[in-house]
Amino acid sequence: MKKLKVGFIGYRGMVGSVLINRMLEEGDFAHIDPVFFSTSNPHGNTYPINGTVYKLHDAYDIEQLLMLDVIISTHGGEYTNTMYCKLEQNNYTGFWLDASSNLRMKDNAVIVLDPINRAVIDKALASGVKLFIGGNCTVSLMLLALGGLFANDLVEWVSSITYQAVSGAGANNMRELLQQWHMVAQNSQAILNDNKHSILELDAKINQLINSEHLPRNYFDYPIAGNVLPWIDVAMANGQTKEEWKGGAEANKILGLVPNTINIDGMCVRVGAMRCHSQALTIKLKDKNLSVTAIEKIIQEHNPWVTVVANNKQDTLSKLTPAAISNTLKVAIGRLRKLNFGDDFLGAFTVGDQLLWGAAEPIRRMLNIIIKHHAN
Ligand code: NAP
Repeated sequence: MKKLKVGFIGYRGMVGSVLINRMLEEGDFAHIDPVFFSTSNPHGNTYPINGTVYKLHDAYDIEQLLMLDVIISTHGGEYTNTMYCKLEQNNYTGFWLDASSNLRMKDNAVIVLDPINRAVIDKALASGVKLFIGGNCTVSLMLLALGGLFANDLVEWVSSITYQAVSGAGANNMRELLQQWHMVAQNSQAILNDNKHSILELDAKINQLINSEHLPRNYFDYPIAGNVLPWIDVAMANGQTKEEWKGGAEANKILGLVPNTINIDGMCVRVGAMRCHSQALTIKLKDKNLSVTAIEKIIQEHNPWVTVVANNKQDTLSKLTPAAISNTLKVAIGRLRKLNFGDDFLGAFTVGDQLLWGAAEPIRRMLNIIIKHHAN
């Protein structure tokens, strides 16, 4: 059978690079005929992918795009807004897979997270749906961490306070954090070398620097080194940010619960971690008689990637951090305990790599589901 012609737009960005890496690790390129596109360097070449340097095509060339069986866009919402409509207007009949949020809530779109909603995906494929979108990173990671509780209908509501890494905002934001750290290090070097120097003077100097216009801030607009930013994405009318709104809207769509939705709300915060989104969760359980041991078992048995971490200092600090989880497919969950509010209130902390299970992996797996569907 002829291999599917798969176009990649955004292959060198954060999500795109991780997607390509995972596809290489899993040997996925053997099953497709890949075509690479660029918005910034349309006549250049890719970096070597599996030893091959591919010719780049113009990501705005509609004729080239129309020839593809599958388009994977990990470029971002602006590109999707511009090009998806044009393809629709030109009666594009192939699949569109996307990491950006723009199309997620469309009626004819499925948000893909196959360990949670494989049945929905299969049904959609069988009925001719062509629009499959990766979910918001914190949402996908929370659903994988709490999959067992949702699958057993044990959750009344969830509050999530996030600690989201800079790579969640893209490659340039990641570089900006490093540039800010670099400037902080350079400016503190002389005082750091003299351990008799006043720590208050060092603190004041660094605070002045991170608030100054000298700090590189072309992407975050505000300091992220030595700082936390309690606002991600645009404002919603009700005081939430859009990132916070996605928590409830997307999770319920993925779980197929609409209109009988579970209330999910919280606060989304950007922190100076490089990679991995962490979340502190408060979960209102429907059953107050479940022990923490029983809950741990339900969570652990749900999927192969979730890893329950024992609620002690050593395990928590060595296994439940971005440093420990970064660049793995594990979704760690720990600090599990009943909260003082009552036996039906569960506390938890979870960490997952938002570039893997939070972005690239559901899309990679969806591509393979499409390939198998095509072969049958
Ligand atoms: P990104 O790193 O900014 O990359 C997007 C595109 O920007 C690249 O493919 C590249 O396109 C261009 N670009 C410009 N300067 C670049 C540079 N210095 N290095 C690499 N690429 C550069 O964006 P992203 O984080 O991958 O996000 C893509 C989409 O996925 C967004 O809609 C985002 O919301 C969504 N998403 C991201 C995450 C995450 O954790 N980052 C998670 C879930 C969903 P050209 O090659 O065409 O120039």
